[in-house]
Amino acid sequence: MQETEIRPSYIYGPVVSWRSGTSLGIDPIGPVSTCSFNCSYCQLGKIQNITRERKIYVPTADVISDLDAAYQQKAFEINELDIITFAGSGEPTLAANFGEIAFEIKKWLEAKDLNIPLSVLTNATTLDDKNVISALNYFDLISLKLDAVDEISLKSINQAENSLSIEEIKAGIKNLKSISGSNLQLQIMFLPKFAKDEAYLLKMAETIIELGIRKIQINTPNRAKPKSGSEYWLETRGNHYTEASKAEVDESKREYIELPVISKEDAFFIEEFLQSQVRDKIGELAVINVYRK
Ligand code: SF4
Repeated sequence: MQETEIRPSYIYGPVVSWRSGTSLGIDPIGPVSTCSFNCSYCQLGKIQNITRERKIYVPTADVISDLDAAYQQKAFEINELDIITFAGSGEPTLAANFGEIAFEIKKWLEAKDLNIPLSVLTNATTLDDKNVISALNYFDLISLKLDAVDEISLKSINQAENSLSIEEIKAGIKNLKSISGSNLQLQIMFLPKFAKDEAYLLKMAETIIELGIRKIQINTPNRAKPKSGSEYWLETRGNHYTEASKAEVDESKREYIELPVISKEDAFFIEEFLQSQVRDKIGELAVINVYRK
């Protein structure tokens, strides 16, 4: 990067989400999309750096100075934020300093006498690391992606980094669940190919029972996927359908792939099916359904 170039901010949004309200985004990963998955539906496009390596991708001080600058420039109205969410250009827990960033944001909020909850969207592939578990203590809400129920769906849906296995991911979630408590939820992306597959749905119900997490999100890829080759469009962090993000880029030059989604009927069928399978074993699920507004 030349000295004259201005680096992109590590703060984005706010994004208005059907799940969490008005959310300010924190990106601890930075300009190269980096994740241990390369999900077939990822709104970032094709992941550039598929890795399990945990390291410092962006300095903590830069994230905090970007947050302060955005606040000073009134890029967001702080009293209108419902939540601050760590996600960004990939898997946020791959950032070795994501806990430190969360700690510094809490201090920044405290100095302003504010108490805005912190959430993190994670694909649950780093939960074997005690440093990750300890850093997650700073978060009020932890959303764990769980689309796969076996090795086949892990490859097909998440296109996970080669060394990852579904058993390892589930073991990590169970480890977190044994330490952390009620602030966990499973975020499940249902694709039409699997939505009517009873064997897949049964395995999903068994997985929910095994993990013992009773709060789930039934989601479907309702954002188009950027058609990217080697190029990564940073604006696709958060929600590229907001008017603000459309104004930032020349959308006419961008190409997106519309992804097949499950229908409203499918989503409510899945909800009822999962409830009927798990109710007697772990009790009623608290379900956030993409089609229940
Ligand atoms: S886990 Fe998230 S960031 Fe990573 S590839 Fe999947 S959708 Fe994209």
